[in-house]
Amino acid sequence: MDLHDSPEDAAFRTEARSWLEDNLTGEFSHARGLGRMGLQHEGRQLRQAWEQRLGRDGWTCVGWPAEHGGRGASVSQQVIWNEEYVEADAPARINVMGEGLLGPTLIAYGTDEQQRRFLPGIRQGTELWCQGYSEPDAGSDLANVKTRAVRDGDEWVVTGQKVWTSYAQWADWCFVVCRTDPGSSRHKGLSYLLVPMDQPGVEVRPIRQVTGTSEFNEVFFDGARTTTDLVVGAVDDGWRVALATLAFERGVGLLGDVVGFRKELDHLLALARRTGRSRDPVLRQRLADAWIRLSILRMNTLRSLTGVDGPVAPPEASIAKLFWATWHRDLGELAMDVLGAGACVAEAFPYELGDLQRMFLFSRADTIYGGSNEIQHNIIGERVLGLPPEPKVAAKGAP
Ligand SMILES: Cc1cc2nc3c(=O)[nH]c(=O)nc-3n(C[C@H](O)[C@H](O)[C@H](O)COP(=O)(O)OP(=O)(O)OC[C@H]3O[C@@H](n4cnc5c(N)ncnc54)[C@H](O)[C@@H]3O)c2cc1C
Repeated sequence: MDLHDSPEDAAFRTEARSWLEDNLTGEFSHARGLGRMGLQHEGRQLRQAWEQRLGRDGWTCVGWPAEHGGRGASVSQQVIWNEEYVEADAPARINVMGEGLLGPTLIAYGTDEQQRRFLPGIRQGTELWCQGYSEPDAGSDLANVKTRAVRDGDEWVVTGQKVWTSYAQWADWCFVVCRTDPGSSRHKGLSYLLVPMDQPGVEVRPIRQVTGTSEFNEVFFDGARTTTDLVVGAVDDGWRVALATLAFERGVGLLGDVVGFRKELDHLLALARRTGRSRDPVLRQRLADAWIRLSILRMNTLRSLTGVDGPVAPPEASIAKLFWATWHRDLGELAMDVLGAGACVAEAFPYELGDLQRMFLFSRADTIYGGSNEIQHNIIGERVLGLPPEPKVAAKGAP
């Protein structure tokens, strides 16, 4: 594998880097670093204005095909964009659900009318989206979804509860997996509905996290309405569409994350040197191990993206998810050990958490969202290694 940029990719990198340098200026210089892990609530207005600046100059949705308003960028160029973006310390993107999940799903499964209606708002950063999948009894076991939608003339009426819905407090729209065939169970009889959030039948309740901030929410649908033309794919065939969305969940963005991980590790290494903790032989080994495993993660991700033109295949996606989530959780623990007793002390009044403390706390979520470590182990065991399947336990309330 040649890890150097081709001449075209090098030109693309220069263009991306200089656009970021030119535009992270003026009011947007204050946006640098906003919305980092554990601080996702920061700077909504400024970050949305930044999203619109990106959209104006064609730097959102770079991997979408040109016919849908993207740049049609190759996988290597999408990787480059993500790397440069993180390297420039640009603010965390605010419409990841729209750009990364719903947009590609609409391109694959949406009607022409749905594409015309929704893709421009995602590209231009004017309409924000959230993902309404998980429920109190349907997380890893998504097929246990209970939220239901009942047809009423030209509309669907949605009733039920979603949970852990990231960015619902800001979203204009939610893509909701719900049960449209009342007699159905498991993955049959589900549909994939696009539901407007700003209506009386939708209540968003932020969940306060251990970091003290609220990135995700409970969402209650109580007679919420959406029109019948806003089902993606066929009615009662939403499972297929829902799985397609999940397949887009990780991929080229991971190499951008790797750049962010490297910055966190560099910060930790500098701290360990400054405080003399790097002389502790055990910490020293763990720091070296973190560095080595991060290099492996980068190489493996590059390898799995080589020759890929779409979502990364499930076994590789599972291996990557398991590896990076575990690496990052371990980094959080290592950071606390490097801080030593200081890890237990918040910074000055009003007792703000430091970056490393926040990273440690938030990284506990990494091995849960996007498919928990246990679920990734199951996928690798069953689909890659051909081991006997997990015994299936009937879900609560399932027939
Ligand atoms: C930061 C964050 C953001 C999120 N954002 C969103 C969002 O925007 N939209 C959305 O819909 N959801 C979101 N989620 C929810 C996420 O998808 C679920 O938390 C995840 O699927 C796990 O589901 P659960 O929390 O219900 O846990 P459960 O599924 O109840 O699992 C509990 C424990 O049991 C284990 N377990 C479950 N089933 C098995 C099995 N078959 N074999 C072995 N072990 C098993 C799990 O690994 C876990 O340790 C988010 C979660 C987090 C943490």
